[in-house]
Amino acid sequence: MRVVPEADAYFRIEQELVREGVGMFDMITARGASEVILESPHHDDTLATMSVEQVESVLWMYRDRLVDLKRDSQIRDILISRRHKKPGVPAHHPYSRVTAIPIVFDEMRRELREAREYYQYKRRCLYCDMLRQEIAAEERIVRLTRFFAVLVPYAAPSPLETWILPRQHGCSFEDALSQDTATDLAALVSRHARALRAEFGDPGYELVIHNAPNLRSRILQGDWATIRDDYHWHVEIVIEPERANRVGGIFVNELSPEASAANLRHAWSAVT
Ligand SMILES: [Zn+2]
Ligand SMILES: [Zn+2]
Repeated sequence: MRVVPEADAYFRIEQELVREGVGMFDMITARGASEVILESPHHDDTLATMSVEQVESVLWMYRDRLVDLKRDSQIRDILISRRHKKPGVPAHHPYSRVTAIPIVFDEMRRELREAREYYQYKRRCLYCDMLRQEIAAEERIVRLTRFFAVLVPYAAPSPLETWILPRQHGCSFEDALSQDTATDLAALVSRHARALRAEFGDPGYELVIHNAPNLRSRILQGDWATIRDDYHWHVEIVIEPERANRVGGIFVNELSPEASAANLRHAWSAVT
């Protein structure tokens, strides 16, 4: 496995961080990093063909890159994402993408705000509450292990969307990864990829680690004051995100989450 800077990177570590106002607008330079984790020497490998040990070593590499990049207090957020079969992109070596930037990604900022607002209102973690409720209800659960719950979220934007939630509360992936959790998570990711390939015609998908931003980059005193209690890291896997059916900003999903979960449970049992 190798990590290389992207050839034509949007974000570079050598860039000086400059924030300035341009009239009423804000400008910030593209200081950060765009890296590619090459996961296997075999051109045709995918998460479905790699061994579970190989998938696990990819998870450890995610952790290493997060720990290393978060030492830089000018990096505010790091996105770890992995695409399988992106339309218009020719087949390539299996890789993950690491994008570190001096602001918080929009989708993460919204998710962090929602989790914080829920916490301010309830004094409980949104995701811990969701776990309790979903485990009790069972119908949207794909798989439960000692450390994780694999489930279809209640209002999934698209069919077969799957989240992998750690059952132990924690805001960051890099702190949560241990020998036990890494082995468990790798087995779940691998099995999900094999189930998608075997039972759903190997669709394209995107896997994203939803993780706390770099707490070392706090700018204002109150930034992320309750994040260790209010945010709960997780993995989201979305099938063909470019095909999501959006109308006026809302998602239309014709498959109920209970049906998605039932289909996935069936597919998982077909690939031991
Ligand atoms: Zn939690
Ligand atoms: Zn999320």
